Amino acid sequence: MKPAPFEYCRPSTVDEALEALGSSESSRVLAGGQSLIPAMNFRLTDVSLLVDINRVEGLDAVTCDSGGVTVGAAATQTRVLEDDGAASVVPGLRAALRHVGHLQIRDRGTVCGSLAHADPAAELPAVAVATGAAIDVTGPAGERRIDAADFFHGPFWTALEDGDLITEVRFPAPPPRSVTIVDEICRRAGDFAVAGLVAVIEVDAGAVRSARLVGFGLGGVPTRLQAAEAAIGGWAADHPVVTLTEAVMADTTDAFDDIHAPNWYRGEAVAALTVRAALRALATEEEV
Ligand SMILES: Cc1cc2nc3c(=O)[nH]c(=O)nc-3n(C[C@H](O)[C@H](O)[C@H](O)COP(=O)(O)OP(=O)(O)OC[C@H]3O[C@@H](n4cnc5c(N)ncnc54)[C@H](O)[C@@H]3O)c2cc1C
Repeated sequence: MKPAPFEYCRPSTVDEALEALGSSESSRVLAGGQSLIPAMNFRLTDVSLLVDINRVEGLDAVTCDSGGVTVGAAATQTRVLEDDGAASVVPGLRAALRHVGHLQIRDRGTVCGSLAHADPAAELPAVAVATGAAIDVTGPAGERRIDAADFFHGPFWTALEDGDLITEVRFPAPPPRSVTIVDEICRRAGDFAVAGLVAVIEVDAGAVRSARLVGFGLGGVPTRLQAAEAAIGGWAADHPVVTLTEAVMADTTDAFDDIHAPNWYRGEAVAALTVRAALRALATEEEV
């Protein structure tokens, strides 16, 4: 199908972009277009004006320091994936982006666009929650910083209001002596995950000290596995897996149940991914 008629503009500054976004009731930011354009083609979304942010000055920057990585709204997923500095400071970014779609999609799709789109099965929102990212937004109400934990409200629903623009996202570096693992179950490489896990695991003397565990593809928003986070402290490779898997199952009782997989399958899949992540983190302890 083809989209309904729409207007298009390509501003050069953030102020021009905000003015354009405010000029029409159903204006939308166009970043990589990898989710928005298909939705327009299928007439799933009503857009009167596309505000293309790809040439807005300063929005395509990716900057790293020892404390974290900042990704501008127009920086593509490929740009971040290929940035060795970003991968060494926040390893979860490269680990997640390897699972996102295919090369052609990552070449156009942006990191911030993925956060704004808030697909429940997407990897980057879970990385944002697992790392405690901060999302900078500017719009009619001025500038504000939103914690990733407060940003995702439901499937394809975020804290963004009409006329808002994400300008950048800051991913903090994980704690020292931690290992970040992004793993998922999907039918074919490049597909959206049926269920997945972002794990930031701190290891010490052959045991897990603590972990931040965030599932995706389980519910409307990235899912903190809080029972599993409590159960994993002190876990070592020779410990039984049953307590850990039962904790994950308790965390996932409300997981999606749909044509892609029943609820119990998603719970068991993420339980297996959690055990696998813990074993991998412990096996790589000497390297961190
Ligand atoms: C075949 C295929 C497979 C895919 N597989 C995966 C996958 O495995 N994992 C995954 O995570 N994603 C996947 N994607 C989605 C892809 O990652 C998208 O690029 C991403 O979800 C949206 O980013 P974008 O830059 O293309 O945003 P766009 O499509 O341009 O925009 C998406 C939405 O976000 C809004 N938006 C974008 N940027 C901003 C901003 N800066 N401020 C405010 N609002 C903004 C837009 O207005 C729109 O509503 C896939 C896409 C396709 C087509």
